[in-house]
Amino acid sequence: MTPLDSKLLTREILLSLWKVHILHHAAEHPVIGQWVLSELRRHGYDISPGTLYPLLKRMERNGWLRSDAAGGDRSRRRRYYNLTTRGATVLAVLREAVAELHHEVVEEAAVPRAARPLRLTPPSVSKAPAKKKNRAGRRRSPPAKG
Ligand SMILES: [Zn+2]
Repeated sequence: MTPLDSKLLTREILLSLWKVHILHHAAEHPVIGQWVLSELRRHGYDISPGTLYPLLKRMERNGWLRSDAAGGDRSRRRRYYNLTTRGATVLAVLREAVAELHHEVVEEAAVPRAARPLRLTPPSVSKAPAKKKNRAGRRRSPPAKG
């Protein structure tokens, strides 16, 4: 077994999960970076400010969050991130995706395979007809060797 490449895991997958967390919490109340950091740590993610702040900026550029600076003098001013309408739409899509993912990856996986209801048409098969033609076409003309 190769050791876990945590940087790769973070870059490829966890970063996206953090965004789901952030959208979820911003839907409940405006959030500041420091709060997000401690909340993600509570969930077991050790994320640095150097990772979080650019991520918040990207989410803002995508139109999912809108930030406002608030507070006393300039040095103490904090940036509050609010969920936008577009962010709420993204969150709604993600809630469904996470529920579906959880159902299969967590709930179904907890049931022994033999006890699971037989699935006659797995998603990959039901989508097959449209792609089949191309695949078959490719198979019929293998690259010439010699
Ligand atoms: Zn959370």
